[in-house]
Amino acid sequence: MALRLFESLSRELRALKPSQPDGVFRFYNCGPTVYAPAHIGNFRTFVVNDVIRRLLELEFGAGKVKHVRNLTDVDDRTIGQAKKEGRPLGEITRHWTALFHEDCGALNCLAPTAEPTATGYIKEQVNMIEVLMEKGHAYRGADGSVYFKLDSFPGYGGLSRIKERELKVTVFAADADHKDSVSDFALWKAYKPEEDGAVKWTGPGGVGEGRPGWHIECSAMSKSILGDTIDLHTGGVDLLFPHHENEIAQSQCCNGTTFAHHWYHSEHLLVNGTTMSKSKGNYYTLRDLIAKGYSAMAVRYALLSGHPRKQLNFTLDGMHAAESALKTLRAFRAALGSQSGDAASFEPVFVALHDDLNTPGALGALFTIVNRGPAGIDAAAFDRVLFALGLKLETTEAPKAEVPADVAALAEKRWAAKQAKDFAAADALRKEIAAAGWTMLDRKDGYSLEPGKKA
Ligand code: AMP
Ligand code: ZN
Repeated sequence: MALRLFESLSRELRALKPSQPDGVFRFYNCGPTVYAPAHIGNFRTFVVNDVIRRLLELEFGAGKVKHVRNLTDVDDRTIGQAKKEGRPLGEITRHWTALFHEDCGALNCLAPTAEPTATGYIKEQVNMIEVLMEKGHAYRGADGSVYFKLDSFPGYGGLSRIKERELKVTVFAADADHKDSVSDFALWKAYKPEEDGAVKWTGPGGVGEGRPGWHIECSAMSKSILGDTIDLHTGGVDLLFPHHENEIAQSQCCNGTTFAHHWYHSEHLLVNGTTMSKSKGNYYTLRDLIAKGYSAMAVRYALLSGHPRKQLNFTLDGMHAAESALKTLRAFRAALGSQSGDAASFEPVFVALHDDLNTPGALGALFTIVNRGPAGIDAAAFDRVLFALGLKLETTEAPKAEVPADVAALAEKRWAAKQAKDFAAADALRKEIAAAGWTMLDRKDGYSLEPGKKA
């Protein structure tokens, strides 16, 4: 059964399939901006994308899905937050990255096959900007920044159907004085010491120091890891314009070929009828809800209870309903034991999921079956449904302990020591952290803290 999803560019339902002879499905999902907690609105998008990933794995095989989800660790918002707190950018982004990973784990999201950081791909971004400049699609503006020349790409606006007139008065007008046309957007932002502090890199040839614009980050990470053409590119609806529109322009002008065969955008989570957002401050985090006594799995269930392409209003009533649905599923799973039965019983669930990711339809179909009772049901087939939805029934995780400030500070010091290759200091700090009752778990791009000592 092929997964069909609405495609934002053509505005029709299309089946997803790998386009290249190696049979590998190439999937890029725009990741979080790590300057604040990811809220459950952000996680609606990531959970929806996790179900897509799971369905693709069931269809093409786990080893045949390359799923990239980046971390935006340098942009206006991350730099602004570092400046506000008077801390180095990396300290801010590592902290929020670690918490993001913890929440992804609690929500049972599969780790992407690659999770690049924008700061880890500066050279690749600079290279793309140089190609765009050579090809006449970009130029150095009066302020030393590099801008994409919008009218050099006739396809601009195809995704969002934005009209030229609207374009001129909307988003890109802030730095109007420095560029040829008001609608051109920045690929590279010239270094401004008062704003950027220590954040700067060597720019493209003939251009001074600075930092990349947000849009080029995704174009470069996608190209570097997945190649010039990918099979699916996704994000929340707010990314449709200008982010994805700009990504298409940059990538296609640089690479000279189609960027993504399929664009998919999921809708927002609302609170009291307004989009949940970091800047509005009207959000719940997973931690907030766990502190209120709800389980992470109930949050995942609640996020899947609405159609991904329709706005969903978040309510605590919805959380209650999710907890009780999970309880029913748990009892049903226990009743199944390891019995075998009709392997096709759950077909209506998969039919709904494959039809534009109709998750409420799938949950409805699931409960129709569950309500009939466990007789004749195949346990393995039920587990396949749980895998597709990413519902883990066996865990009732305890609320996460808060990391005390002194332990957090020790962890930052140890990370800095490790980066500076001062392993003796790093080791001593690890012991101090352990003595305070915490374990620091290292990864390539950051760390997390777990309560308790490792044996
Ligand atoms: P950000 O961390 O702001 O870059 O956003 C990460 C992802 O969350 C993007 O795909 C956004 O489109 C998505 N997003 C932001 N706000 C919401 C919301 N209220 N509901 C669903 N997704 C959202
Ligand atoms: Zn992106």
